[in-house]
Amino acid sequence: MKQQRNSRQRQLVLATVKEHTDHPTADEIYLEARMSDDKISRGTVYRNLNLLAQTGEIREVRMFDADRYDSRMDLHHHLLCTGCGAVCDAPVSYHPELDRELAEKTGYAVGLHRTVFEGLCPACQKKKTAAGKE
Ligand SMILES: [Zn+2]
Ligand SMILES: [Zn+2]
Repeated sequence: MKQQRNSRQRQLVLATVKEHTDHPTADEIYLEARMSDDKISRGTVYRNLNLLAQTGEIREVRMFDADRYDSRMDLHHHLLCTGCGAVCDAPVSYHPELDRELAEKTGYAVGLHRTVFEGLCPACQKKKTAAGKE
């Protein structure tokens, strides 16, 4: 029984992450999972997120404010809005040759690089312009 509940809760956590393209935090996933299963605990959600990231079913995205989760598994960069904190995928290509170049220069076995671009999203820019006019 316990085993069954465990895998059902893991599936729920996984499904919740997969519903998103906006890189939710563990807390946001917890609050959403609670709507489908009010018995699920924060600890269970966090543990399952770690597990799913370890088994490669989801990807962990470390941000400055919190760890976020991504269902997109290919290597890609992120774009952070410094106004509202939104995180989206940056539509620029990933350059694996940078990893190779760095490996050659340093002797490190470089696996990947993570880049976070920062700026104001269009909505926050609009808000800022509107506030400036008042
Ligand atoms: Zn914004
Ligand atoms: Zn992403």
